[in-house]
Amino acid sequence: MKSRLLAYLAGHREEMAEELRELVELESPSTDRAAVDSFARRLTEKLAGLGVQPEVIRGREQGDQVRAVLGEGEHRILVLCHMDTVWPVGEVARRPVRVEGGRLYGPGAYDMKAGIVQTLWALRALRELGRWPGTEGGRDLWSQKSVVFLYTSDEEIGSPSSRPLIEAEATRSRGALVLEPAGRNGGVKLWRKGVAGFRVRVEGRAAHAGADPERGISAVHELCRQVLDICALANPEAGTTVNVGVIRGGSRPNVVAAEAEAEVDFRAGTSAEMDRIVAAMSALRPHAGGAVLRVTGGVNRPPMERTAASEQLYRLARDLALSLGFDLPAEGTGGASDGNFTAHLGVPTLDGLGAVGDGGHSPDEYVVLDHLPRRTALLVRLLETI
Ligand SMILES: [Zn+2]
Repeated sequence: MKSRLLAYLAGHREEMAEELRELVELESPSTDRAAVDSFARRLTEKLAGLGVQPEVIRGREQGDQVRAVLGEGEHRILVLCHMDTVWPVGEVARRPVRVEGGRLYGPGAYDMKAGIVQTLWALRALRELGRWPGTEGGRDLWSQKSVVFLYTSDEEIGSPSSRPLIEAEATRSRGALVLEPAGRNGGVKLWRKGVAGFRVRVEGRAAHAGADPERGISAVHELCRQVLDICALANPEAGTTVNVGVIRGGSRPNVVAAEAEAEVDFRAGTSAEMDRIVAAMSALRPHAGGAVLRVTGGVNRPPMERTAASEQLYRLARDLALSLGFDLPAEGTGGASDGNFTAHLGVPTLDGLGAVGDGGHSPDEYVVLDHLPRRTALLVRLLETI
């Protein structure tokens, strides 16, 4: 089965590349609802054609989500993909898809339309190789379990609409497989930092900077002191970083600033560090008498911590990869994904099972085409084994 599986997928490498091209050209920025919805429609047609009845979950603010189930058994595995990209419609016209030296370049190819292609070909492989539920070869395999494929439309903007859906599916699942791009060394991601975002607003009092400076309370001066306090919350040893990415305030050089605000991004690897940050941010107090400080925000994605359960899932995946002829290192990253949500619920999560390549969110983004068949084979073996 193993060699047949790999041979089947390797034999369809060109079709996989063609399908990736098609999906990249069907642009789907998170913030363009019509575009994401038409991507979802095309994906729905493909899934229906493969014999898994997809369900379209209508989005309210963001685009539609697509859910498809394979098998009817009780033990569930969740497979997570996102359809949206960070690229606006028109990007493909500026930077058409091209294949060069075995790499496919294109906006959103690596993050993460190649992952979607992997799920489609995993389904095709199961069907073509007689491992489909209800068939002779698939009966034993699928009597106990089922796979929920969830394709979301708002991952790149923090998953505001899809998060409840992801969490509801995850709590019913014995494992979550996330088809985000692989790590730098082609590995899977066992840990990801969490993200917390805050807006810090200061209200002071305007006054003439020359005639009545003592009547004013400078919001800009106050905010600068707050920024120093906030930066001091970083903890490099624990991997906790802070970025005051945006700052604005004041009106003119000769006016004591009445207001100022900053936007802050924290990344932390553990829940304990996240809790410390949230507590410290809510404990901030103004230095200047009369200044008013308002801090809003909090944790967006909790950290995905390395756990014994995820280690165990990783060891299984690595053994399967080795039996398919390639190694699968364990890696981690400061970037968050929907895997943060599933891992935080205690569901064993393996992230970064998607494409090998590089340059996510940059114009140099590419997918190494030779890796597509074997990454897809690994996905099939995981679905069969977990
Ligand atoms: Zn992604």
